[in-house]
Amino acid sequence: KTHLVWLRNDLRLNDNPALYAACQQADARVIALYIATPGQWQQHDVSGRQLSFIRDSLQCLSEDLTALGIPLLFAACDDFTQSVAELSAVCHRYEVSQVFYNYQYELNEHRRDRRAEEKLAEEDIVIQGFHDGTLVPPGSVLTGKGTMYNVYTPFSKALVKMLSRELPECYPAPDKRAHPADIQADDIPSLSEQSRDYDRESFPPGHREALQRLRKFSQQGAAEYHRLRDFPEHAGTSVLSPYLATGQVSARQCLLRILHDHPEALSGGNAYSWLNEIFWREFYLHLLVAYPALCRHQPFTDWTAHVRWRKDDKQLQAWQQGKTGFPVVDAAMRQLNETGWMHNRLRMIVASFLVKDLLIDWREGERYFMSQLLDGSLAANNGGWQWAASTGTDAAPYFRIFNPQLQGERFDPAGNFIRRWIPELSSVPDKAIHDPVNWAKKQGKTLDYPAQIVDHKQARQTTLQAYEAARKHN
Ligand code: FAD
Repeated sequence: KTHLVWLRNDLRLNDNPALYAACQQADARVIALYIATPGQWQQHDVSGRQLSFIRDSLQCLSEDLTALGIPLLFAACDDFTQSVAELSAVCHRYEVSQVFYNYQYELNEHRRDRRAEEKLAEEDIVIQGFHDGTLVPPGSVLTGKGTMYNVYTPFSKALVKMLSRELPECYPAPDKRAHPADIQADDIPSLSEQSRDYDRESFPPGHREALQRLRKFSQQGAAEYHRLRDFPEHAGTSVLSPYLATGQVSARQCLLRILHDHPEALSGGNAYSWLNEIFWREFYLHLLVAYPALCRHQPFTDWTAHVRWRKDDKQLQAWQQGKTGFPVVDAAMRQLNETGWMHNRLRMIVASFLVKDLLIDWREGERYFMSQLLDGSLAANNGGWQWAASTGTDAAPYFRIFNPQLQGERFDPAGNFIRRWIPELSSVPDKAIHDPVNWAKKQGKTLDYPAQIVDHKQARQTTLQAYEAARKHN
């Protein structure tokens, strides 16, 4: 008997339901397979950084799997359709009797998995999928009417109630095989021509690193999270997102680790604020399954499809490059461009700026974020952008518009974060850091930094009118 584990977004040994199940029969030979689909990823705007991070994580995982007697095989093709044929070919080559895999919930991924199930069934190969990637299966947290919650707070309350009754289990890593597969593991090559370097020092790849980070954050950071989480100059958040987005750590591991160190967290202890973020992640993933149109980048709130966005490539580029003249926006975008990661408060500020100050389609921002982020994930990114654009389920009302200068003053009061990313402003005093060009003018100085590309007050009015017009159009 040969069991094959088809790895995708679950690059870990611990708490991997498919891997665990594949290893249950002592006499089965177990092999693992990863299939690269660079053409598909390009369509999904997956960043070159994330692809390199995944490659390196696969290499780590391959070494650990080899030590257990499970070789990791590597195949590459263009897209998901071809990956099904590739899977089938590998199954035939190694006379696989059963395939194990963890579900992915995005639309294209889900369709691929259905096609794989059909094809292997035709070929008399047993294929079994497992829920993974969320705390509880999507579709299991429902309103009294049996529908998905459209608003976060009641969803999270219902989820907490469910978890308080019964916690999900974490599967242990499999044991070393008594009969290791006598097949050489493949070297893991670069996954795509789009791959590009990322900061390995800040984001060491691998599921072991992810678990260490989780443990450290749970013991040293989670209790203070509620106090520090909004201030980007502090390292107050877990920075686990790249690992969660690529399945190097699971949401269940996060939950159970926090409850181990903070038993009161579910009933509202200090670490609850952090669990609340894991629940937001959960909410957006459940939403994708309930509303697959979100995967096609359609707005959740229909009337917002009528907003007449401005097309302004120059301003879009200024935003992308961190040259808008609003220091907090620019510092954040430069952090994104350089590292592939951005603090959550800043993601909200820059998203609001693009949509509400520049009146540029939120999908431009969504796409640009994906192309840069190390932690790019369709559910969270789409959820975040639709929230900021007031087009989503649980969105900020459209008339609530962040003032980018005031946001900077509030969340980076002394400008320490700003100066880290915009050295051109290093000589500007704290009190002027959020409006440096005006300060320089008064001082008779010139700065190598642009003036604000929009007048916030005016932009706010234009945006309100555009949303009002769209609402009436409905
Ligand atoms: P922590 O604060 O330590 O939170 C722990 C984990 O909870 C995160 O790692 C993440 O998995 C999850 N999480 C936290 N906040 C959110 C949230 N608002 N929505 C969903 N999940 C959340 N997160 C991504 O993982 N990928 C994205 O592509 C992404 N795009 C975003 C785009 C916009 C416009 C906005 C406003 C938010 C986006 N987020 C995204 C959510 C959030 O900003 C990041 O998850 C967070 O900043 C990651 O840092 P952290 O790991 O230190 O988070």
